[in-house]
Amino acid sequence: MLHIKKGSNGEKLTWNYLLIESNIYSASFTCNDGHFGSLLDHVILDNGRVEPSVVCTYEDCTFHDYITLDGWNSNGPKSEGYV
Ligand SMILES: [Zn+2]
Repeated sequence: MLHIKKGSNGEKLTWNYLLIESNIYSASFTCNDGHFGSLLDHVILDNGRVEPSVVCTYEDCTFHDYITLDGWNSNGPKSEGYV
């Protein structure tokens, strides 16, 4: 299990909120090789755990792990006091 911190898009091993529709959030994710992707086809539990395991979709990238999004809140960035 890999813990991913929230960060700017493109920073390695970070996640950020991705607004799907009003008040419904998923997350973007950057693998340890700097590849940017989304977790739209994954379930993010309230504790930040992502199911199922995450595979980077870039050709030749070997990233494949179970991840947890540290600081995840299913209510989105509003829960952090901004927006
Ligand atoms: Zn990758």
